[in-house]
Amino acid sequence: MIIYESKLEGTQIQYEKLNAAIRTGRFVRNSIIRAWMDGQVKSRNDAYKYCKTLADNPEFPWAKQLNSMARQAHAERAWASVERFYRNCKTKIPGKKGFPKFRKYQVRDSVEYKTSGWKLSSDRRYLNFTDGFKAGTFKLWGSRNLHFYKLDQIKRVRVVRRHDGYYAQFLIAHKREENKELTGRQIGIDVGLAHFYTDSFGNKVDNPRFFRKDAKKIRKLQRRLSKTEKGSKNRKKARNKLGRAHLKVSRRRNDWVCKLAQRVIQFNDLVAIENLKVRNMVKNHCLAKSISDIAWYRFREWLEYFGVVYGVPVIAVNPRYTSQNCSNCGEKVVKTLSTRTHKCPHCGYVADRDENAAINILKSALKEWSQMNGKNKEVFSSR
Ligand SMILES: [Zn+2]
Repeated sequence: MIIYESKLEGTQIQYEKLNAAIRTGRFVRNSIIRAWMDGQVKSRNDAYKYCKTLADNPEFPWAKQLNSMARQAHAERAWASVERFYRNCKTKIPGKKGFPKFRKYQVRDSVEYKTSGWKLSSDRRYLNFTDGFKAGTFKLWGSRNLHFYKLDQIKRVRVVRRHDGYYAQFLIAHKREENKELTGRQIGIDVGLAHFYTDSFGNKVDNPRFFRKDAKKIRKLQRRLSKTEKGSKNRKKARNKLGRAHLKVSRRRNDWVCKLAQRVIQFNDLVAIENLKVRNMVKNHCLAKSISDIAWYRFREWLEYFGVVYGVPVIAVNPRYTSQNCSNCGEKVVKTLSTRTHKCPHCGYVADRDENAAINILKSALKEWSQMNGKNKEVFSSR
């Protein structure tokens, strides 16, 4: 799947109609969660059937206005959250199990169409919504990429509302594959506080300066928002400004990690990373830290994406002991967070702390990789 995004340009009246469609998508999702709680919906199939019940109910005339396949798409969303809850209960993950919640109004929301309810013009510059909300035709900004695909490759169209407007996302069925020459390089990557990452060759990539700058800006806007009166016009304005700033920050961050990940994949035949739990990472009070945490999470997603595209294995290993053990002899060498250099009393190996960790990450990934591939018993040297 590839996703392309274009901005939708229309009139205020048209946007209001998109809002009604988004609201209805949420209504379908929440109604199905409610029906599940009441025991009326017990399976995905029940959820699909319940869409029809909603559409036929004269009390909810809007439900019928939303395209029938779009209703199904939102039933799928509802059922996915029920399934996630069941799965979490079954695997007994510690803490909250994620009991399905009703979704409240949020600026950031979307409505999802499948293959009907919309029509793309043959020049790919206009998108027309044809379901009961009659939102009409929108001009598309940035739809050039759509030219490369046939119409029947577009499996879904999602209308996303953000702080700075409305967007159409086109989900395209396409397997991207690129050729890559073998480089003979394998790399382990350790993410840290001081640097974005350190690799097993000892190279360091610094956090870009804009992480800090962005954090500063967001903090300023947050303070400004908290000073406004609840329900006032100024509060609404301040919230919109903050929302836009968040958008800008996440786009810039995503651009940066995307390019970095592609480079890492292109220059290596195998990439080893730590399997860090995002849930523990992002819940952080320090804004600059949480920006780099999210960046690391996106970086990993891009590594995995480009790994598939270029046929490079990306292996995530258990982060335990990677920083403590000696990458040369394997003995445990305890150090505090402030110890920047790894000095092994057992074998005399000296290395930068993060480089030592990156080598350990690579080594355990290779171990896992050879176990996965059975007989492959090459002895590996990290340089
Ligand atoms: Zn050692």
